[in-house]
Amino acid sequence: MRRISIFGATGSIGQNTLDLVRRDKKSYKIVALTGGRNIAQLVRDAREFHPDVVVTAFPELLPALKEGVSGLKIEAAAGGLAICEAADRPADWIMSAIVGIAGLAPSLNAVRQGATLALANKESLVTAGPLLLAQAAEHGAVVLPVDSEHSAVFQALLGEDIASVERIIITASGGAFRDWPQADLAHATPAQAQTHPNWLMGRRITIDSASMFNKAMELIETKEFFCIDEAKIETIIHPESLIHAIVGFNDGGMMAHVGAPDMRHAIGFALNHPKRQHLDVARLDFTTIGQFRFFAADEARYPALRLAREVMCKGHLWGAAFNAAKEVALDRFIVSDIGFLDMAQVVEAVLRELDHVGDLNTVSRDLQDILQVDQATRELARTLDV
Ligand code: NDP
Repeated sequence: MRRISIFGATGSIGQNTLDLVRRDKKSYKIVALTGGRNIAQLVRDAREFHPDVVVTAFPELLPALKEGVSGLKIEAAAGGLAICEAADRPADWIMSAIVGIAGLAPSLNAVRQGATLALANKESLVTAGPLLLAQAAEHGAVVLPVDSEHSAVFQALLGEDIASVERIIITASGGAFRDWPQADLAHATPAQAQTHPNWLMGRRITIDSASMFNKAMELIETKEFFCIDEAKIETIIHPESLIHAIVGFNDGGMMAHVGAPDMRHAIGFALNHPKRQHLDVARLDFTTIGQFRFFAADEARYPALRLAREVMCKGHLWGAAFNAAKEVALDRFIVSDIGFLDMAQVVEAVLRELDHVGDLNTVSRDLQDILQVDQATRELARTLDV
């Protein structure tokens, strides 16, 4: 029986993971489930899957969590430290699906115990890619990408030599505002931004899809995970979201990964790796799809892409600063403190400001280095006027 833990169990990725586990419960022993504010969901999942421990990130919610699992042999805990301790509990496979920088510490703990890390939390790679992968190598942990684009690249590269890769093309749906005139974007509201044309995802990543900050993060993720030169990484808009990524090789051949926009493909691939096992998810009928469309992703319309390229070139601690600035800009947009287009302006202004400081051009030695940059950048991004 495989021991598994799910960090961010109550979210979109977490629930899709549990949906796959539910279909084959006898094969898994759940060690830990963690969540944030959705205690009702966490309690429901705890009652169904009987983990050893359930953790909420928020200590004030611990009494409700304890009450929800009372009478069951399940420990309940709360807070960031308790989440990290849960990631230290021996497990064979760990899903990292907390949203934001809060997912980094448990990702690091997971690889330090040598578990297979299924990595949905893109912030782990964007803020600390080299550190995470070095720790994984040191402790014999396998890291499997769960972001659909990176899972697609990973699958296209199976049996291939990375040195023969000429280009990696990450596709983008274009998000909620793909067909909006540029002039209307300044007035786009959070409610309008949090509807995705193809994917059903958490609120933050959905808004990031509309602004292309999600794609920007994915470009950085690609560079970090596959250790590939930024000049070889491209993005194009593909409205159907059926081709998730394309890898071009030095003999002119290209491998495209095609699948329905359903995260259970990528999660299931990571769960069953290195085998492929039957997954009861939608199959595509090419005769009804009819066509695949592609458009250039205009960096003038989507400044997030230009900023990501700059961050990829700079490397070091710039990913941590980029992510923190982006998270604060998103928070400010959600509460209508700034407009939709201002998010990129905040991030760009923060990066310009940090250019003068100049101490981000150093290798991140540990989590503390990254969290320091994260905190300092957040303070800056909160106060910047645009
Ligand atoms: P959701 O917002 O749906 O879920 C996030 C999870 O993190 C929830 O369990 C939430 O708890 C928990 N959480 C929120 N804040 C904290 C905190 N401070 N500390 C600990 N836990 C917290 O996000 P998604 O599932 O959409 O995304 C999760 C990650 O996966 C993100 O990094 C995202 O970019 C990435 N990803 C997501 C994809 C998708 O299809 N959804 C695709 C590819 C990558 P609660 O809900 O109980 O408050």
